[in-house]
Amino acid sequence: MPFNAETLIAQRALAVDASGIRKVFDLAANLKDPVNFSIGQPDFDVPERLKEKAIEAIHAGKNRYTPTQGIAELIDPLLKKTLADTAWPAEDTCLLILSGTSAGLVLAMMATLNPGDEVLFLDPYFVMYHHLPKLCGAVPVAVDTYPDFRLHPERLEAAITPRTKLLILCSPNNPTGITLTQAELDAAAAIAKKHNLLVISDEIYDAFCYQPHLSIAKSLPGQCLMLKGYSKTYGMTGWRLGYVAGPKAIIDQMTKLQQYTFVCAPSMVQYAALETVLTHHIDMTPFVRAYQKKRDLVVNGLKDSFEINAPGGAFYIFPKVPGNGKITATTFAQQAIANNLLIIPGNVFSSRDTHFRISYATTDDKLAQGIDILRKLAREI
Ligand code: PLP
Repeated sequence: MPFNAETLIAQRALAVDASGIRKVFDLAANLKDPVNFSIGQPDFDVPERLKEKAIEAIHAGKNRYTPTQGIAELIDPLLKKTLADTAWPAEDTCLLILSGTSAGLVLAMMATLNPGDEVLFLDPYFVMYHHLPKLCGAVPVAVDTYPDFRLHPERLEAAITPRTKLLILCSPNNPTGITLTQAELDAAAAIAKKHNLLVISDEIYDAFCYQPHLSIAKSLPGQCLMLKGYSKTYGMTGWRLGYVAGPKAIIDQMTKLQQYTFVCAPSMVQYAALETVLTHHIDMTPFVRAYQKKRDLVVNGLKDSFEINAPGGAFYIFPKVPGNGKITATTFAQQAIANNLLIIPGNVFSSRDTHFRISYATTDDKLAQGIDILRKLAREI
């Protein structure tokens, strides 16, 4: 029999769909200067000072493997800050520098999930939460939050079985922009304690919070992995940096697995990131304020035509397609693309296909154009 590479593909790879976001990008490839509301990253560039520091690090020969867990100069201040923010016990808390928050999700699941274990998260969800458990032979369990996208404790608890091991929370949320309240976080922490769940708190959008950021971490010493990212905060999605803090027993295993997978986070990026912890030169608040204005612009521009849960953070809005189910979000997204506007249909992030994701990380001109197109499309349904 001739060699056929396709016959070699493992079930775990076949179980994962290509990202629906990529499909939108493929459809959009032929558009000229589209209004692009589909991009999950800030529209500002990395601050100059961080660029200079990364270049300096390269010239200074910081181009080799770093220790698996990251450079001590970066770990120490981040750990100190984590302990101050969470009041976690120092003796049981460790911190691992990651090649992006994504690496933290991968390693956390590899370190904790056995086949058949169940992973809870709220629907709508960030796509990796749905696919990564499957790579470990585990079962993703999405807990419905429609129509308000709030955490409903009774729904969460109803989804727990003896196989439930992990609960992933993301606030501010991708794709809804919803931020969880203290009451919601307290309810989730109580459920996690009652059922001995490990909580992964994905805080990659913590800088993009239009009120003080609240974290569940504080309530769960020894029972939470707190994931932080640099990608969105500093507009450096391509640089690959993040970190995870949590109980020593789990961080030790994640570090061991990092040794045989990601090896270490990019060396020059770790050195550049020292600038964010050793000094306070890099103030991102003007960008965050600008994004808050963009959020208001879009919410105000769309609220008469679409049902919207006004988001408290990140740079996303997740409006409902009008027309009471007359058309799916996928059809609506195709109509938008035909009008030169890129949005992501809800079924990429959800078991439902009734809403769509807008990223407002773009210029005010483009936002105004996109709002006009969306209002026109809503009138035509
Ligand atoms: N978590 C969430 C909720 C995200 O939206 C993203 C990226 O879009 C990530 C994690 C991964 O980010 P990175 O690996 O760039 O840190």
